[in-house]
Amino acid sequence: MLWRFLSLLLLLLLGSFVGFFWGFLKHVDVVWVWLLTGALLAGLLWWILDAVRGLRVVTWLRSGDLGIAPQMMGLWGEVVERARRLLRERERALDASEQRLKDFLSAIQASPNGVVLLDAQTQIEWCNQTAADQLGIDSQRDYMQRIGNLLRDPVFTAYMAQSDTTQSVVMEGRGSRAERPLRVSVQRHRYGEGKQLLLTRDVTLVEQAEAMRRDFVANVSHEIRTPLTVLSGFVETLQTLDLAADDQQRYLALMATQAHRMQTLVDDLLTLSRLEGSPVPGFFHELPLSRLMKACEQEAQGLSASLSAEGHVQTIAFVMDEALTHSVLLGEARELQSALSNLVSNAVRYTPADGRIQVSAQATSDGGLQIEVQDSGAGIAAEHLPRLTERFYRVDRSRSRESGGTGLGLAIVKHVMQRHGGTLSISSVLGQGSSFRLIFPGTRWRAVKTA
Ligand code: ADP
Repeated sequence: MLWRFLSLLLLLLLGSFVGFFWGFLKHVDVVWVWLLTGALLAGLLWWILDAVRGLRVVTWLRSGDLGIAPQMMGLWGEVVERARRLLRERERALDASEQRLKDFLSAIQASPNGVVLLDAQTQIEWCNQTAADQLGIDSQRDYMQRIGNLLRDPVFTAYMAQSDTTQSVVMEGRGSRAERPLRVSVQRHRYGEGKQLLLTRDVTLVEQAEAMRRDFVANVSHEIRTPLTVLSGFVETLQTLDLAADDQQRYLALMATQAHRMQTLVDDLLTLSRLEGSPVPGFFHELPLSRLMKACEQEAQGLSASLSAEGHVQTIAFVMDEALTHSVLLGEARELQSALSNLVSNAVRYTPADGRIQVSAQATSDGGLQIEVQDSGAGIAAEHLPRLTERFYRVDRSRSRESGGTGLGLAIVKHVMQRHGGTLSISSVLGQGSSFRLIFPGTRWRAVKTA
């Protein structure tokens, strides 16, 4: 302000002096008139210069470009400086809110759930990629399209027509096929003035798990009901008929078989639920491989003897590389024992009396350990192989039941191997025999050196 006043004063003085000097040179009588004219002209010049500076500031403010702010002194300089500071602050706030919006949108994009924003006329304002994939819409192409015109599924149409938004609906997702189904749950939420938020979620796995649970319960009930029916039939017979002692003993033996069958089934179910519910086995417990092989060999001999007809004894051989004699498996001994014992018991049960069973252990080329159970039994047709580890899946139902099978053995083996970071590999040729291999990674076994 001071600079402004001083500059005006200076210019007025200069103008008066020039006027006075001019009058003096021309020998004019009334010098003071020239003095006043000089001052007036100087004041006018000051005003024009000031107006030009003001105009530069206004032009710059109109452009709003911080980069071309004019360099000035005095009052206009201060106006420019303050305006520049305000503009910079506004730009920073704008950048920050733009960044927040971007972060917010990328967070919604990253969500595994779909999000669609609809206006009051159910026109699409925005949707994330998950929703686009699940519903088959495109956020750019379908912008401001009515969602009802794009999704024609009657389930969805009926859902959008109802006023109740507390319920969700499940419909077929985009590109759902029989071999690769996609089921999508859609839930509406109201917000703002008549706007709606659609949340979508892939529920295919949830529905499959629910179906599996239903099947499992139905299978277990069926498996338990069969021996229970037989048992109660015998109990009724024993209660109503006056049987001879021999017959009574025969019936009691049959009842014991059925009770044993139920017992085995419950044991296998408990084993499965224990496997599912307990943490992954650590690496601290050691199970000597030779002990595991010995225990399973004795079990196999006993089972084979109990199943085989007189005189027909299966040939059972357990072989192990010399170098592995002192090696140990690292994991849960009970589980490892149960896995091998299930395979060996299957080999014995599904191989004829004069067949051959061989169990061998060897190190693999990548540092792992493989225990293979081979038999010369009936073999399994290729189409059954991928489903063998499903619970209650049996190739020959009656043969499995006759020999005391529950249909859960291979499911248990697969689980045990998964928990130990290994795999169960199966190959078989119909009519020639089968081979089941337990393959452990290098971290799950150790060769103990002897002194
Ligand atoms: P199960 O208790 O019925 O033996 P598993 O889960 O152990 O149930 O096996 C599933 C099915 O796989 C069996 O019912 C049988 O049909 C088939 N299977 C398993 N092991 C063999 C084998 N060594 N030889 C032929 N078939 C086998």
